[in-house]
Amino acid sequence: MVEARGRAAAQQLPRGVSILGATGSIGASTLDVIARHPGQFRVVALTAHAKVAELAALCVQHRPQLAVIGDPGREAQLRTALRDAGLSTRTASGMPGLLEAAQSENAGVVVAAIVGAAGLLPTIAAARAGKRLLLANKEAVVCAGALLLEAVRSGGATLLPLDSEHNAIHQCLAGAGTHEGVRRLILTASGGPFRQWHDFSTVTPEQACAHPNWRMGRKISVDSATLMNKGLEVIEASWLFGFARAQIDVVVHPQSVVHSMVEFGDGSVLAQMGTPDMRTPIAYALGFPERIESGSDRLDFLRLSALTFEAPDLERFPCLGLAYRALETGPSASIVLNAANEVAVEAFLARRLPFAAIAAVISQTLDAISPAAPDSVDEVLETDALARRRAGQAIAQWTTSGVRG
Ligand code: NDP
Ligand code: MG
Repeated sequence: MVEARGRAAAQQLPRGVSILGATGSIGASTLDVIARHPGQFRVVALTAHAKVAELAALCVQHRPQLAVIGDPGREAQLRTALRDAGLSTRTASGMPGLLEAAQSENAGVVVAAIVGAAGLLPTIAAARAGKRLLLANKEAVVCAGALLLEAVRSGGATLLPLDSEHNAIHQCLAGAGTHEGVRRLILTASGGPFRQWHDFSTVTPEQACAHPNWRMGRKISVDSATLMNKGLEVIEASWLFGFARAQIDVVVHPQSVVHSMVEFGDGSVLAQMGTPDMRTPIAYALGFPERIESGSDRLDFLRLSALTFEAPDLERFPCLGLAYRALETGPSASIVLNAANEVAVEAFLARRLPFAAIAAVISQTLDAISPAAPDSVDEVLETDALARRRAGQAIAQWTTSGVRG
């Protein structure tokens, strides 16, 4: 398990927190938890990609020292918005700005909540800088698991997963000592909005983003609808906890009350439960090893009708099987899988690709290229770029053959 006591642990209160991807869903939940503990945490840096007005509004509320906009063309607009609001918050932009937010000396805690492989470099930078790294950006682990873990080790960072399944497993493994006695990890999946659907030919982005249990960003919502999210999470779990594919199972649990489980050799199964609210794993990771208030609702057992479990259907949801295949093939296949998925999901959200073709695009891209395992972050980015180009070609074929969503 990834958990060295980081330099950040010795920091004084209130602890400085830098949030990468502050304008997103995880960013909002994190800021909500932090606002409940003003004596314990203070916001040091906030970043966004393009949403200047939203970022400026968060700065008015949380008064960070640094505000970073990923798109360099929007920094002047951000500076004006902050000045008009009477704030002295410094601005930065582009990758240098994101890296500054990730490495800031004033931040002991970094929340990695940028969506997609775009978050890879800042996430690795925070690990190298020895931060307490609260990791939501699963694509960074999927693309560069070994390099990220090495950065955590060499930087003396503490990695705590925010993804609710991995956070649950972290909680279940906490008293386990070694992994010797673990039989398997059991990741739960809600099944997404199409759990009971058989015909995906008319699926719209709005339907795919209407998750039954969680309110999330659009990309992860589509991933939940295809079950690719669970596939990425199997790869994430394999890296974070050091288990092979054979020891990681997925069960569909539509109520999203059991967030994941660990089965031990003696037959014990530990589950972590709670209402589906990302503030719970965020509060766990912010407070660890203490427990702090998250603001989430209590789980009312008397109002739960049932907790049910079923096997995932790999025929209707081939993306999960593609992720299993990538994990078994090796690290570069995971980069290809992730990049092709990002490009295909973007095309689906832009109504350029039918929902059912997402898996086909990923499969074609996996078949087309098999790069060598990456030794450096640069090589990860090269493979990522290659896979994006190849996936783009596959999408163009769909579009020109007249298949529309
Ligand atoms: P959102 O889409 O809601 O937010 C994404 C954030 O990243 C925004 O702040 C966005 O800025 C920023 N961003 C997007 N692209 C870039 C880029 N190229 N460079 C810099 N910043 C960028 O996503 P979520 O909060 O839902 O998810 C964030 C991550 O957390 C994902 O990896 C997701 O898989 C993971 N996660 C999310 C969960 C959830 O419940 N939402 C649960 C578990 C994991 P802007 O707003 O300006 O576009
Ligand atoms: Mg999850």
